Amino acid sequence: MRTGILLTGVALLLAACSSGQPATAPGGAIVVPGQQPIRVLMLTATAGFRHDSIPVARDVIASLGAGGGFTVAVTEDLPSITASSLASYDVIFFALTSGELAFSADQKAAIVSFVSGGKGFLGVHSASDTLYEWADYGRLVGAYFKEHPWTRQGTVVVEDASHPATAGLGDRFALTEEFYTFRENPRPRVQVLLRLDADSVGAAGDFPLAWAQSFGAGRAYYNALGHFPETWRDARFQRQVAGAIRWAARR
Ligand SMILES: [Zn+2]
Repeated sequence: MRTGILLTGVALLLAACSSGQPATAPGGAIVVPGQQPIRVLMLTATAGFRHDSIPVARDVIASLGAGGGFTVAVTEDLPSITASSLASYDVIFFALTSGELAFSADQKAAIVSFVSGGKGFLGVHSASDTLYEWADYGRLVGAYFKEHPWTRQGTVVVEDASHPATAGLGDRFALTEEFYTFRENPRPRVQVLLRLDADSVGAAGDFPLAWAQSFGAGRAYYNALGHFPETWRDARFQRQVAGAIRWAARR
């Protein structure tokens, strides 16, 4: 199904800018007059499992953008993603994607160049259950999904509270989620921001849940949370995604 691109958040942002003074938007972003909002392309296309939380994810990110200094274009139209269309964005966001999305070699090269040339990548939840056959994508997201042994309440440990995507979360928080494990532990290659407290689910081992990394001249962020609509509605998750968008866009 072809899905049109929805642009939201522009009107509110322009209103916030019209006073001529810097202002703090409801999402916590500093809105500087004359500075373009961060432009986010949010992709929710699936070629495998499709999460029920996708409509909520779209609504939440659009409204976060309205208050957070970014505009969000949502699409599932893969052919529309090209080198020239990507030039209009600062961040590409794979949200709850899955499976072997049908990108051409040119499109894959365009996405890699977009990020390695200095722009931002975000992946959330099943973004790691996507494009297993494209190794550069695996490097972008940081690790591929292995399994989800624990769908229950667990404790999430904040490893680095100084990162913009973890600011204000405290040391740890409890959350009901579908917690992922990965084929390889990404820790040697990335900056781990969150991990699962293994004790809290009766397990043992190292289970990173969110991380950040450089990718060429660009920045890439992944967060394994986001299975349930409730997670997307959770202010603690929202501030992580909004912070990650600003970090990825270097704002
Ligand atoms: Zn899930």
